[in-house]
Amino acid sequence: MSFGVRLRVFFVAIVAVPMVVLAAAIVVITRDSQDGKTDARLASGLETSRALYDEALAEAPDEARSIARDVGPELAARDRAALTAAAGEARERTDVVAVTILDAKGVQLAASGPADAIAIGESNASDAADGTPLGTVRAAMLDPGHFTARVAELTGLDASIVDGDGSIASTSGFDGTAVPASEEAGDVELPDGEDGRAASLRLEGAGPGARLVLAAPLESGFVASEPLVALVLALFFALAFAGIFVLLRDLQRRVAKMLAAARRMGEGDLDTKVPVEGNDEMAGLAREMNRMSSRLGEQMRELKLQRKELDESVHRIGEAFASGLDRETLLELVAETAASACGAEASRVGLRDGGRTLVTREAPEALAGVLERAGEEAWEGTGEGVAADGEHHAIADAMGGSDGDGEIRCAISVARDGEPFTEEERGTLRYLLGRMVTSAENIDEHERVAEQALTDELTGIPNHRHFTQWMRQETARVSRYRGELSLVLIDIDDFKRVNDTRGHLQGDRVLEMVGALLAGQVRGIDLAARYGGEEFALALPETPRDGAVLVAERARRALEEATVEGVDGTPPVSVTASFGVATMPGDAGDAEALVAAADEALYEAKRSGKNRVVASEGESGAAAQGNEAQRRR
Ligand code: GH3
Ligand code: MG
Ligand code: MG
Repeated sequence: MSFGVRLRVFFVAIVAVPMVVLAAAIVVITRDSQDGKTDARLASGLETSRALYDEALAEAPDEARSIARDVGPELAARDRAALTAAAGEARERTDVVAVTILDAKGVQLAASGPADAIAIGESNASDAADGTPLGTVRAAMLDPGHFTARVAELTGLDASIVDGDGSIASTSGFDGTAVPASEEAGDVELPDGEDGRAASLRLEGAGPGARLVLAAPLESGFVASEPLVALVLALFFALAFAGIFVLLRDLQRRVAKMLAAARRMGEGDLDTKVPVEGNDEMAGLAREMNRMSSRLGEQMRELKLQRKELDESVHRIGEAFASGLDRETLLELVAETAASACGAEASRVGLRDGGRTLVTREAPEALAGVLERAGEEAWEGTGEGVAADGEHHAIADAMGGSDGDGEIRCAISVARDGEPFTEEERGTLRYLLGRMVTSAENIDEHERVAEQALTDELTGIPNHRHFTQWMRQETARVSRYRGELSLVLIDIDDFKRVNDTRGHLQGDRVLEMVGALLAGQVRGIDLAARYGGEEFALALPETPRDGAVLVAERARRALEEATVEGVDGTPPVSVTASFGVATMPGDAGDAEALVAAADEALYEAKRSGKNRVVASEGESGAAAQGNEAQRRR
C-alpha cells in the first residue's frame, strides 16, 4: 500500500468517521435535550394546573355545605323550583360554577350551571331539628373551558380535558383522548401535524376518568435555536476537514519531494539538496539526508582524489617500465612512491651498488636533519631508524640483499611535519623496501645477462653481436659528422691444423690468447671483437687507412712473436694471422660495405701468402661513390 493510500485510509479512519459519529451524537443529544426541555415544561405545567385545580377543589365542599345549610327547608319540602332558584342564587353569590341538589335517595331535584363543570365537592344536608338526612348538595368550582383557557394562559401549553367518553374542552382542538393516563410525557402528533409531547393529570372531583391533558410542540431545534453555535460548529468541521486535508497533502508532497531527492542521490547526483521546509521532523529528515549526501560527496571527492593519485602512481610506474628501469630511475620511483604511500613530505632512498652508494636528491632543509639521522640509524643499526625534532618526524628502514651476506643494500627514509609515523606506515615502507631490493637485484641480473649477450664467453672480449651494434652506431656517426672509421678483419692462419694436431682444447687456448693480445693492442675508444670462429675484428674510430695499417702490422708482429703454453705439458704453440684493412668513407659508405671491403682485403692477404696485412684498394664500388657524394656537398 502506498504512503498516499495509507494517509487517505488514515484520514478516513481517524478523522472523517469520528467526525460523522460526533455529528450524529450531537444531533441525538440535541434531540434528547429538546424532549427533555419540552418534558420539563409539561411537568411544570402539570404542577401549576394541579395547584390551580386543587385550590378550587378544596373550596368545593365548603361551598356545598353552605348551600346545603341554606336549602334545608326546601329540600325537606322537595320544592324543586325553590331549590333550582336557590342553586342559581348560590352560583351568582359565590365562585361556584354549577350546583346539583339530590334527595336522600340520590334523585336529582335541582341543577344549575354547566353539566360538565369540574372540581366538584359535596355536602349532605340534614334536618336542623332531628338531624334526619335530607339529601346531598354538589358544588362544581370550575368550568372546563375556562379552566383549560386559564391553564393555557399560565403555562403556555395546550390544555384539554378528557374523560372516559371523549374530549370535554380543549384550547387548541387537540384530541387528548389518545394520550396515556400518565404524568410521564410521551410523543404525540399535534393538530397542525407537528411533533409534540403530552402528559396528563388525573382530575379528582370530576367525571370518571377525567384528566387534564397538556401538550406542547417540541422545543425548537438546536440548530434553529442557536444558529451561531450551529454556524461555529459547521465552520469548525469545515476548518478541521480543510486543515487535515492540507496537512496530509503537504505531508504527501514533502514525502514525494524527499523520495525524488533520494532517487537522485541513488543515481549519483549528490549536489542537489532536499528542500528543508519549516522546523519539524520532516525538515530534520531532509537536513539529515542533505548531511548524508554532502558527506557522501566528500568521500566521493576523496575517492576520486585517491583514484587520481593511484592513476599517477600507475603512470609513474608505467613510465619507469617504459624507460627501461635503471638504478637512478628506480631510486626516484621508490622515493616518490614511498613519500605518497606513507603520507610523507620528503623521502630519501639509498642503494649500495658495488663500491658506490646512490642516493636520491636532497630533501627540504627543515626535514633533511631527521631524514639523515633516521637513515643513518637504519644503515648502521638494526635496519630500522626513527628520528624526531619537535614537529619533524622521520622513520627509515634498511634491508640487505637476497644473497644473505648481512650487508645492507637499500634504505628508505621518509619525513614529515606534524604527526609521527604509524606502525601501518612503517609496514608500507618495509613492503616498498622489499620490492626495491628485489627490483635492484633484477637490474643487476638484467645487466649481467645483457653483458653476457654482448661478450664472447671464450675470450671475454665483445662478440659478433656487440661488434655489429657498435659498428651500426659508429658508421652512422661517421657518415653524419664526416669522421673516419677503419676496420681490420683478422683470420688466424691454418688454424684448422692446430685443432687437428693439438686438439680442440689447445685451439681454444690459442683463441683466448689472440683475443687478449688484440684487445691489448688498441686504444680505449677502439673495439677489439671476436668476429666468429678464429676470426677477429679491430674497429678504429677516427683512424685513417695508414694508421689502421700500422696498428694491424703491429698486431701481426706481436702475434707472430707470441706463444701459447701447450696443454698437459705439450710444447708451446704459436700462430700467425692475416689482416685485411678497409676505411670509411674511403673504401665504403656503410657498415656492410666496410666489412665487405675489409673481407676482400683479408682474402687478398690469404691469397698472397698469409701472415700479412693488406689494405683495401680504395676509391672503388660503393666506397668510391660515397666519397664522391661527400665531395659534392
Ligand atoms: P686459413 O684460414 O689459413 O685458410 O686456414 P684455416 O685452417 O684457418 O681455415 P678454416 O677457416 O677453414 O678453418 C677454421 C677452423 O677454425 C675450423 C674450426 O675448426 C676452427 N674453429 C673455429 N672456431 C673454433 C673454436 O671456437 N675453437 C676451436 N678450437 N676451433 C675453432
Ligand atoms: Mg677462417
Ligand atoms: Mg683461418
